[in-house]
Amino acid sequence: MSLETEFERVSLPLEDPFTISRGTQTEAENVIVRVTDDAGMTGIGGAAPSAHYGETADTVAAVMPDLLDAVERVGDPHAIREIEGELRAVVNGNPAARCAVSIAVHDLAAKRLGVPLYRLWGLDPNDAPKTSFTVGLDETDRVREKAAAAVEAGYPVLKIKLGTDRDRELIDAVREAAPDARLRVDANEAWTPKEAVAKSAWLAERDVEFVEQPVPAENPEGLRYVYERSELPIAADESCMTAADVPAVADRCDIANLKLMKTGSLSEARRLIAAARAHGLEVMCGCMIESNASIAAAAQLAPLLDYVDIDGSLLLAEDPYEGVDLWGGDVRLADQDRAGTGARPASE
Ligand SMILES: [Mg+2]
Repeated sequence: MSLETEFERVSLPLEDPFTISRGTQTEAENVIVRVTDDAGMTGIGGAAPSAHYGETADTVAAVMPDLLDAVERVGDPHAIREIEGELRAVVNGNPAARCAVSIAVHDLAAKRLGVPLYRLWGLDPNDAPKTSFTVGLDETDRVREKAAAAVEAGYPVLKIKLGTDRDRELIDAVREAAPDARLRVDANEAWTPKEAVAKSAWLAERDVEFVEQPVPAENPEGLRYVYERSELPIAADESCMTAADVPAVADRCDIANLKLMKTGSLSEARRLIAAARAHGLEVMCGCMIESNASIAAAAQLAPLLDYVDIDGSLLLAEDPYEGVDLWGGDVRLADQDRAGTGARPASE
């Protein structure tokens, strides 16, 4: 058997500028990976590098030829453990770059077996929680409009970005526009520990479900301070990258928020889930702003999760790839009519 590989940089404009406490994004630079076997079957993966974790499309493109050489050297898409080990031997960091390759190899392996990836993992497609839809930071009136529009579009779970001096005004505006929605908030490290505890009290009064990353990852004692005093459950995102981080956050949060682009591979994502469960944590899967080339793979993990936040492709003006249907927030794995992750070119 032999494998052919290629990659392509894509610039994906967003539907609306997306703002969090750290800054604004108007397009997403993704890198698409394709791995093709000698029967002409192609696995698709994608990288959505995040500058916060030291990756850009340039760093992904710089290491990709060496990563893809390793795939061709192994030559067998079913030798996933060996391939992921070789990728780690090429670069120990660069998780988004490695993850794109891991996704493409998983997609190809499942396609060759003729099953959706969740079937290969033995998961029940009807166990998937609904995905949230994210409302970024904006003028208060715009946030109110965006929340109303998301509910109108059928999304019953909203994730609201906070981390401003208008947080109370923003959440009140969202509650007004979406009185029945399940709400979660994400401060993206913007609060002090005392501020986070105080804000958790009035967020609880507004029936918010949990608070994500209230304080900087560089302040683990602050995270513990918030966890011990908060009125609401705490999710760790920036504080939790791989399975090895789980023991350190286990007594500082209630929920581990994994992202494929932090873990570096689908196998590591599943190890993180197992590690979090072993420590009594709930598990969530989030995402960057990503094409369905990688979001479709995150969807395959949904039956293993308590909370799903995989709206990355929904925030794009246009996605060159289709994936698992997320209409109305339902992760419709049971409707997936394709083997592999379900990702396919939108033109196909
Ligand atoms: Mg987050």
